[in-house]
Amino acid sequence: MNDLTCIIIGGGYVGLAALKAIKEKTKGMANGRRIRFVLIDKEPGHLRKFRLFRPTTVEEEIMIPWKDLVLDGFEFVQGTVTTVDSGEKLLRYTDAQGNDAQIHYDLLVVAVGSSVRRPEPYQGGIALIDPQAAADIRNRWRANLRKAAHETNPEERKRLTSIAIVGAGISGIETSAELALAMKKEATALGLNSSDTSVYLLNSQERLLPEVSEKFRRKLVQELSKCGVTVLNNRKVLREEAGVVLFSNGDSLPVGICIWMIGLIPNPALPAMGLPLTSDGRVLVDGSYRVKGAPSVYSIGDCARIVDPKTGEEDQMTCFEGSFQALRLAKIVMADLEGRPAPIHQSSKPNMDNAFNIGLGQEGVFWIRKWGLDMVMTGKLPGKIKKFVEDKTSMLR
Ligand SMILES: Cc1cc2nc3c(=O)[nH]c(=O)nc-3n(C[C@H](O)[C@H](O)[C@H](O)COP(=O)(O)OP(=O)(O)OC[C@H]3O[C@@H](n4cnc5c(N)ncnc54)[C@H](O)[C@@H]3O)c2cc1C
Repeated sequence: MNDLTCIIIGGGYVGLAALKAIKEKTKGMANGRRIRFVLIDKEPGHLRKFRLFRPTTVEEEIMIPWKDLVLDGFEFVQGTVTTVDSGEKLLRYTDAQGNDAQIHYDLLVVAVGSSVRRPEPYQGGIALIDPQAAADIRNRWRANLRKAAHETNPEERKRLTSIAIVGAGISGIETSAELALAMKKEATALGLNSSDTSVYLLNSQERLLPEVSEKFRRKLVQELSKCGVTVLNNRKVLREEAGVVLFSNGDSLPVGICIWMIGLIPNPALPAMGLPLTSDGRVLVDGSYRVKGAPSVYSIGDCARIVDPKTGEEDQMTCFEGSFQALRLAKIVMADLEGRPAPIHQSSKPNMDNAFNIGLGQEGVFWIRKWGLDMVMTGKLPGKIKKFVEDKTSMLR
């Protein structure tokens, strides 16, 4: 009998988790047929998105070649998927040489993820969207510090040693801490006063991370301040122009670099793919991640709108939630292959009020709220746990 071809589009955190879970659940067989697994991704390796901030301070490779992952037993095709023809069960894609190609699937998992939101071109600054942008940021702040070391005008020196980060979500927080620590070190090496470097974390809301407890927030702000980060709340940035950040209340802040970190948007290639989408551009799925009107096609992760049918609660674009979806998807695929009733999505935090682990350089701040109790831990251990989880999620050897 012919093999069944199971294709996963996207080798981000969630696509990889889905590939692993489906392989393990099915043990590579379905109804007496061998399953051939194919991963298709536009990139030559897995991008460790969590660590996008790292190349802003050091030369660190965050794109891991597929062969260096612990996962095996799949074929890799490098290509950019353009359309899904669910009638013919065909994927059309552009291969690494730029040629049009197509591949047949029996089962398809769409996990094409999200992109980092960019500001409008007139808003200036630089958006931390990919490893190249991170390297550009690193080169720019280093060049600014070298200039500052010879600058005699104190105001210009202050500007050159200052960075603004627009967007105070977890990635903005982690990036600001990483940059503040690295800038201090470099400033000292250049003979500058390390306390003259400034990293401003610009938060448009009244407080940092509105969903966390006051106790955790206080601790986080304190730890950020130790790293050298100043949190400015209630600051709506209009744009950066000629080295000055302009706020909606008329204030301004001179900076050497303005970095935008304003969240994620669903993959902009989705509208052309031919799958049904929600009004905000995510793939429309049922409670078992099946794409509406496309038999044997499933979608999970940042690119899909996943809702708990019981509570109406919507999953956020996080790897944490995507990983639970991947585990459930494997059970769903198995049930569908065997013609049994399939599991239904449930919000992934049913027994936990909330939890965060935020990396601040080598250290971190961990918070969990359970049964109304707050537990906060700071120091090296949360930093180590975060790194361990990140390595596991990326399936590093
Ligand atoms: C800086 C930063 C920090 C973050 N920190 C955290 C955190 O601490 N905790 C947390 O839970 N979440 C965090 N997130 C969110 C987390 O990264 C995402 O939720 C997660 O990456 C989603 O995984 P995914 O596999 O759905 O999508 P993605 O990671 O976006 O992967 C999509 C994959 O699809 C591929 N692809 C895209 N389009 C095509 C195409 N047309 N054809 C072929 N391949 C394609 C891409 O190359 C990519 O490999 C962070 C995000 C960022 C940007």
